[in-house]
Parts: sequence; C-alpha cells; structure tokens
Amino acid sequence: MTNEKRPLVRISIGGDTTFVEQVQIKEKRSPQKKSKNRRLPKDPKPKEWLAKELSQLRIADYKPFNFVDGEGVRCSLYVSGCKFACPGCYNKAAQSFSYGFEYTKELEDQIIADLGKDYVQGLTLLGGEPFLNTQVCLQLVDRIRAEYGTTKDIWSWTGYTWDELQLESADKLELLSKIDILVDGRFLEAKKDLTLQFRGSSNQRIIDVQKSLRQNKVVIWEKLSK
Ligand code: SF4
Repeated sequence: MTNEKRPLVRISIGGDTTFVEQVQIKEKRSPQKKSKNRRLPKDPKPKEWLAKELSQLRIADYKPFNFVDGEGVRCSLYVSGCKFACPGCYNKAAQSFSYGFEYTKELEDQIIADLGKDYVQGLTLLGGEPFLNTQVCLQLVDRIRAEYGTTKDIWSWTGYTWDELQLESADKLELLSKIDILVDGRFLEAKKDLTLQFRGSSNQRIIDVQKSLRQNKVVIWEKLSK
C-alpha cells in the first residue's frame, strides 16, 4: 500500500458526478481496444458481391514501370472498390468504389503502349478488388491478349481465396481463366509478415493459375522463394 496520490478524473454516470482514478478508466477501456484489433475481414457468400452491381469503372491509380507488384518490370493498374475491409489494408482509400478517376480509352491506350516496351514483363491488376471490377479488367486483359498474345504475363491480387473464386460468378471465373498468376486471400493482420515475397500475410498464396486450372488443384508459383 502506498500513499502516493493518483490524479482523479471527474466523470458523470446517469446524471451523477463522481471522481475516479485515471488508471480505472484506462483499465475499463483496454478490453474494447483489444476487441477492435481482433476484427476480421468480411466473408462474402458465393456470388453475394457482384461487379455489375458494385463497380463504378473507376481507377485508384496507374503505375507504369515498377518492380514491386510481381516479377520483373510491370505496369500496375489499381482499380477502385473492395468490400473485404481487411484491418490494416495497404490501400484503404481504394476500398471505395467511387474513389479515383474514370477508366478511359486514353488510359487503356497508354497502358497498351507502356506494355509494348521490351523490358516490361507484364500487367498487374490490384486495388481495390480486381474481381469486383471485372468489366474494366476483362476489357484490358482481352486487349492485351489480342495485341501481345501471351508474350506479356498478367498477375492479379484478390481478397478471394482460390476455393471461393471457384463458386463465384461467370465474370470472375472468366477473368481468372485469362490471367497467369493470382495472389489470393484477405490480408490478415495476425499473419502479417513483411518478409514474404509479393504478399503481406502468410495465408496468401502466389498461384500459377493456368497450371492450377489444368490440374484442378492449387499449384503454387514455381519461382516462390518465401
Ligand atoms: S482485399 Fe486487399 S484491397 Fe481489399 S480490403 Fe483487403 S487488403 Fe484492402
């Protein structure tokens, strides 16, 4: 027991005023803070979220010639809108479907021209959620295949897991069928690991899409190093 005086704080409960030690307030608040940190991303039912209802065909950002969104030099298109609401999301502003700017023919022409450079390996789709913006992504992917065939590879990030995508709408399955590499799954703060190659949490996988579709099981990218 000590005689040390602790600061008192005036509070009001049901109209009555009383004084309590500051430490009592902190103790009462801390469980709330913990429960907020434990919030998990949303889990949609199959076909619950549809691009045709959600997408506003908007883009959060376009970054040509970067080295961080997959293998080699890449052009990255960040679409607007994602409903997974992962705590700790790396691009929270892009969760809004109205964020950013309209996808235009001029932007598409620019992406196609940038991809034409010899040193560019391919396109990366991320966001936001590419699979909730399939109209934009499919239009661009189809044009890349028409102009470059398979000489440019296409990577996409998604909050959906591979298994969830198998139960999804036709547009999502079509986009999946046309890409090369998928980084799947929500970002989970409890599994955060910044040393991982191209992903933020250890539940996420780098999947070779074409091999996985052929073998009807998830096949991990053969160049995975960690
Ligand atoms: S899935 Fe990706 S973009 Fe969507 S909330 Fe989670 S981290 Fe953010």
